[in-house]
Amino acid sequence: MSTTIADVVVIGAGIAGASVAAALAQTQKVIVLEREAFPGMHSTGRSAALFSEIYGSVPIRALSRASRNFLYSPPEGFVDAPIVRPRGAMHIASAAQLARLEAFCALPDVAPAIRRLTAAEASAQCSVLRGDYVAAAAVETGSADVDVDVLHQGWLRQVKARGGELVVNAEVVRLSRQGSGWLVETPDIQIEAKVVINAAGAWADVIARLAGVRTVGLQPNRRTALIVAAPDGSNSDEWPMVIDVDEQFYFRPDAGALLLSPGDETPSEPCDAQPDEWDIATAVDRVQTATTLEVHRIRRSWAGLRSFVADRSPVVGFAPDAPGFFWLAGQGGYGIQTAPAMGALACALVLGEPAPDDLVRFGVSAYDLRPDRFTESLATAQRD
Ligand SMILES: Cc1cc2nc3c(=O)[nH]c(=O)nc-3n(C[C@H](O)[C@H](O)[C@H](O)COP(=O)(O)OP(=O)(O)OC[C@H]3O[C@@H](n4cnc5c(N)ncnc54)[C@H](O)[C@@H]3O)c2cc1C
Repeated sequence: MSTTIADVVVIGAGIAGASVAAALAQTQKVIVLEREAFPGMHSTGRSAALFSEIYGSVPIRALSRASRNFLYSPPEGFVDAPIVRPRGAMHIASAAQLARLEAFCALPDVAPAIRRLTAAEASAQCSVLRGDYVAAAAVETGSADVDVDVLHQGWLRQVKARGGELVVNAEVVRLSRQGSGWLVETPDIQIEAKVVINAAGAWADVIARLAGVRTVGLQPNRRTALIVAAPDGSNSDEWPMVIDVDEQFYFRPDAGALLLSPGDETPSEPCDAQPDEWDIATAVDRVQTATTLEVHRIRRSWAGLRSFVADRSPVVGFAPDAPGFFWLAGQGGYGIQTAPAMGALACALVLGEPAPDDLVRFGVSAYDLRPDRFTESLATAQRD
């Protein structure tokens, strides 16, 4: 088998791999290896496609704010359709959850992004909400639906246009040190590269083990989604996304129908996640309790993995224990909305540059995301 030479090999062609590969392909010879026959088959193709600046940990919110400009005003020629369509995200609380809603609305970067609503105002925005269930709500006005496919394909096209390569049906099965770089092997090809980027989604710790690199404790969690009919004659397409303040369920308009989720987080091995009947029934039950919706038939259902490390913030940077091995993992439930900033940050760090100023001014800090934080906490735990 002959050996191909590249500057950077990216493992995984989901949204994370695509975003960093497109950025790096401007100056580097980049090859993206994807195990499946087409990119986006795992988490990237299974999301709820929300852009929200008040969702997730503090570093996630900073990354989301820093991604906004790209999503709303992408570079000339990047895509030929809009990436986002504005849609409010309404967080609702029952009487028992009012304190929780108060605490959420008081967070310093949440407060300026939301408008508080009475129960009547919430029902005016989404007519099926039950007046005897919803006690209060808060709506984020700057949130949006993301066309994930448009965004993902935009980056994959850019990779090719910039001289990079995407190889599908190419599962990385071996990773070994080769001089100052890495030898990356699939059953059919081998590539020598200075840098390997681990953008393997739920499999990122599996890739680390293959390479003999210390893992980061990634936990894939299954989340379920289903599509049901919207009520006849409703203006459902104009509804906001409705999210239980404890994320016990959410629903949103989806191409003339409704997408429901029970907000489940069931620990899983990395795999082709499948929906569970119990989770589907739970979603229907919770949404029917809060609304007048009557679900008679599930049109379609699916599940995907949201992969988190302990502090629920992503892991971006070179492994402290393996030169040239770069982490881009742990995006959890936010990997779509943060991808523009994550791709730009990862590109800068791979090239040995500081985090770009246009990310830093939104509060993005490479330090918060560094892979070393796990080594440090391990060392502290061992010392204590
Ligand atoms: C139900 C659900 C709802 C969500 N909602 C949202 C939302 O509203 N907003 C948001 O921003 N995010 C959301 N997310 C999260 C988002 O989808 C993920 O954070 C994001 O897609 C992760 O992208 P990724 O590229 O890291 O992973 P993936 O898309 O899983 O890509 C990783 C790729 O690596 C490949 N790979 C693995 N091992 C190998 C190997 N050995 N060799 C080669 N290739 C390999 C896999 O085949 C896969 O294609 C949601 C997720 C789910 C499941």
